[in-house]
This record gives sequence, structure tokens and C-alpha cells, in this order.
Amino acid sequence: MAARALYTRRAYQRRLRSLEGERDELQALINWIGEAVVALSGDGKVLRTNPAAVNLLGIPKPAPGVHLGDLITHPGLRELLEEAVANPFSGRDFALGDRRLVVSARSVEGGGAVLTFLDVTEVRRLETVRRDFVANVSHELKTPLTSVRGFAETLLEDDPPEDLRRTFLSSIRANTLRLQHLVDDLLDLSRLESGGWIAKEEKVELGPAMRDLWDSFQETASAGGLDFSMEGDATVFADRQGVVQVFRNLIANAIRYTPDGGSIKVEIRVEGPVTKVEVRDTGIGIPASALPRVFERFFRVDPHRARAKGGTGLGLAIVRHLVRAMGGKVWAESEPGKGTSFFVTLPTASP
Ligand code: ADP
Repeated sequence: MAARALYTRRAYQRRLRSLEGERDELQALINWIGEAVVALSGDGKVLRTNPAAVNLLGIPKPAPGVHLGDLITHPGLRELLEEAVANPFSGRDFALGDRRLVVSARSVEGGGAVLTFLDVTEVRRLETVRRDFVANVSHELKTPLTSVRGFAETLLEDDPPEDLRRTFLSSIRANTLRLQHLVDDLLDLSRLESGGWIAKEEKVELGPAMRDLWDSFQETASAGGLDFSMEGDATVFADRQGVVQVFRNLIANAIRYTPDGGSIKVEIRVEGPVTKVEVRDTGIGIPASALPRVFERFFRVDPHRARAKGGTGLGLAIVRHLVRAMGGKVWAESEPGKGTSFFVTLPTASP
């Protein structure tokens, strides 16, 4: 008899240990998943939460059997949980402060519900960014295309005199060039954003590269009476083509946004393992409120002026990607009406 009781007790203890083990495994699983999980009883008591629920929903870890009404202060969230017990639902969008969540509730046997909350704030933000980008690209393409079509139709239908014909044709060429720049920049950006561009690690001498670049702008710069100077030199570890594209964009902007008679200066300073290059102009400057946004795609302080000057609105977005891919940083400082400095850092190869 005693042996039998002992056997039963041992079997019971084994079973208990196995159940405890399963419970701990389950809790560990719930604790580790990224979604917030809240389990409720049929009468609205909070049975279980996981750390994600504590972080995301601000629900404190419940004392056993506490009612959700006493635990949750946010009225919308309380209502949602109450509804989940009565009427389970799936894939519902829910806004909690500035977070966007997708909530699903499943009923459990014996009453009650288990709710999962997925934080989709970043996904929604990226969807908006993509939608805005498509809208922006369409808008940028539409304007020059409409001009090209208009001029071509006039040429065909009205057969204008020779001088007007030449004016229309040069407008067609200017608009086609604008479209080509835009498409080239879009392709560059898409290659950079998809990780399809790998920066080479070459030794690049900055001084000669800058002088060559300036020479390629000579005609435009001297037409505006712009003065160019350079100070310092260094060799960096970077992608030669990448470096040229970065400083071509920065110098083109400096020229574009500096009134006639102004000056542009490139200063190269070695600061140990990092080389800092400053492209400084005496141009129109950038208001403080716009400064953090100039690296965004299609952001322009003055859209009309920027387009008239031939900008695509993508130059600085490309610069930022290229510099990051080469292990550096880029930022701008500016005083409206006085001028702007763009700073780029790159890994030093030798002074
Ligand atoms: P964009 O092709 O329009 O020049 P960017 O991406 O190169 O596009 O620059 C974004 C915006 O930043 C420009 O439209 C302009 O408003 C501002 N910006 C860039 N560089 C300068 C500069 N050197 N001086 C003043 N404003 C600048």
C-alpha cells in the first residue's frame, strides 16, 4: 500500500515538473516574440502579458487576477480589450499615441481571449515615403514632358518661322536634358539604396581631383565671375568615382546657389584617421529650419529657383548615400544671406 502511495506521489511529482516545464517554455516563448501579447479571462482579468506588451502598450506586469479596468488607463485600449473578450477580431488597425498597431484577438476555450499587437509604425512610414516618392517622380517627369510635347506640336502644326523654330527646338533640347539628368540621378539613387553599389577602397588624392572638377565647371563659374580657391591636400581611402560624384554635386550646388561675383573655397584638413573636406560658398544660404532636410529626396528650399537652375532635387540624397557607403559623414552649416558650408569626412590614407 505504502509502495503504491509512494509510486503515485512520484508519478504526480513527475507530471507536475513536466507541466511546470511546459509552462516555463511557453512563457519563455511569449517573452521572446516581438509582438505584444495580452491574455484575458472571460470576465476581463489580465492573465498574462509579455515584455513587448509592457513596452509597447505600457501595460504593467499584472498581479494575478487584476481586472483590465484597474490596469489599463488608456480609454481606447481598454475598450479594445473589452471588445476582444466579447467579439474577437483580426487584423484591426489601432493608433496608440504616435504608434500604429495591427491587433488580432482570438477567443480561447473556456472564455477569454488572447490578443497580439504588431507595431507597424515603421512599415506605415515607409509606405508613405514610397507613395510620396512615386508622386514626386511623376510630378518631376510631367513638367518637362508637357513642355516637350507642347513645343513639338506647335512645330508640327503651326510651321513657325525659322527663329521661333530654333527657340522651340532649344527648349525641347533643354527639357530633354533635364529629363535625362533626372533619370540618371534616379538610377544612381536606386542603385545606392538597393545596396547595388559597393565602394572600392582606393587611394584617392583629393587636391588634384578637386582641381580637375573645378576645371570642368570653369565655363559656368567664370560666366558668373565666381572665384575658386583651395587649401590643403590629403590622400583618402575611398572610391575614386564616388569621391568625384560627391564633390561634383557639392561644387555644382555651390555654383548654383551663389550669386555672381561670389566665391567658393575647398579646404582639406587631415584630422588623424579622418580627413575633413569643407566646400564653402558665399551664396544665398539655407534657413536653419531647412538644414536638416536638404539631404531628403526632392527637398528644395525654393523649388522654383532650384528647378530653374537645373537641379533635380536628388543631388544631396545621392551625396549622403555615397559618403556613408565610403565610411564617412556629411553635414551642412549655413548662415542665410552669407553662405553655406558642406562638410564631408573620409578615412585618411596619408596626409
Ligand atoms: P537640387 O538639385 O535642387 O540642387 P540638392 O539635393 O542638390 O537638389 O539640394 C537640395 C536643396 O538644398 C536645394 O534645392 C537647395 O535649396 C539647397 N542647397 C543645396 N546646396 C546649397 C548651397 N550650397 N547653398 C544654398 N542652398 C543649397
